[in-house]
Amino acid sequence: MQKIIDRFVKYIKVDTQSDPENPAFPSTEKQWDLAKILVEDLKEIGMEDVTLDDNCYIMATLPSNVDFEVPVIGFIAHIDTSPDYTGTNVNPQFYPNYDGKDIVLNKEQNIVLSPSYFDDLLLYKGQTLITTDGTTLLGADDKAGVTEIVSAMEYLIQHPEIKHGKIRIGFTPDEEVGKGAHMFDVDKFGAEWAYTMDGSQVGELEFENFNAAGAKVTINGKIVHPGYAKGKMINSMLIANDFISGLPKNEVPEKTEGYEGFYHLHTMEGEVEKTNLEYIIRDHDIKLFEERKATFQKVADDLNKKLGSNIVEVEIKDQYFNMREKIEPVMHIVDIAEEAMKQLNIKPLIKAIRGGTDGSQLSYKGLPCPNIFAGGHNFHGRYEYVPAESLKLATDVIIKIAQITTERAQ
Ligand SMILES: [Zn+2]
Repeated sequence: MQKIIDRFVKYIKVDTQSDPENPAFPSTEKQWDLAKILVEDLKEIGMEDVTLDDNCYIMATLPSNVDFEVPVIGFIAHIDTSPDYTGTNVNPQFYPNYDGKDIVLNKEQNIVLSPSYFDDLLLYKGQTLITTDGTTLLGADDKAGVTEIVSAMEYLIQHPEIKHGKIRIGFTPDEEVGKGAHMFDVDKFGAEWAYTMDGSQVGELEFENFNAAGAKVTINGKIVHPGYAKGKMINSMLIANDFISGLPKNEVPEKTEGYEGFYHLHTMEGEVEKTNLEYIIRDHDIKLFEERKATFQKVADDLNKKLGSNIVEVEIKDQYFNMREKIEPVMHIVDIAEEAMKQLNIKPLIKAIRGGTDGSQLSYKGLPCPNIFAGGHNFHGRYEYVPAESLKLATDVIIKIAQITTERAQ
């Protein structure tokens, strides 16, 4: 296990924060730093066809070691870290045999990682926790996934007695800015299906995510001196208020969970003449998703009927779709992951993602791609941590998936 920890530490020490403001690809030059290290590491452990393309995507092959046909499978992780919090000078702290008590991450700044707030810490009593020093994020999202894939490939290379088909691995830049799948060459990857190693808690297995749209509402008012305004002024902010009230009150993120969809107002800017609202619309069910978009449009149409045309303008754009539609016809790929976990005494936690993943975009590009735990918690901030045991378990899951896929092809 020390080898896995050392590899993880090596990767998190390389700053790979991505940048949502930069349209370049990759969005930050420093992602190349880790990409180049990974190319060397993959060659060193004995991977073949190691490539790094112009957009900073790494791919590599572990050839089959059996003489019958096995579907080509893939494992994918992302090398960038979140723009939400700094990833410069990550200085990991180790807590072997964690006692279930508060962990003081930073004494000077009084930053404490406490199970009274983050109760999932108690799942890992007795294990080795890897945390930050309170001043950066850790980068387990998703260097845990990267580490696990490299470690599993190394293990398979060193243990040829474990039978497997051809395995493709892929590391992507810019996942955290929503572009990880954009330049992913699915044909070149050439796998029948793949798994992203980018979930959180041990056991997580996800193949459903939201259908997603973004909506812009522009409300056009008319400014007139307030003293002479009767019958003339149109106050766009008050109409915005009517628009907001026209949507179902309880269908908002803070009042929904599980499979419940929502309308989320995330930005609002206004003056009398013009008010802009920005929403995201989410639902797992495609039919309800379409109904939600129709409801949204209807609220605007009704206001226009009452107040005069073109006062409320709505622009709705689809963002991504639930991968379930692409996974359901190939449910055996989820079964294999579930079976792998069960054989390792890991309880599968199958749940619907209340967000999107690169896997959903890849699924729609023709590469069905459920998501598996990578082990970290509290992503995108200073409280991020990962138990070393979880890094090992996720590595074992990758190996098992390769094995089971081969057994089933026999
Ligand atoms: Zn991630």
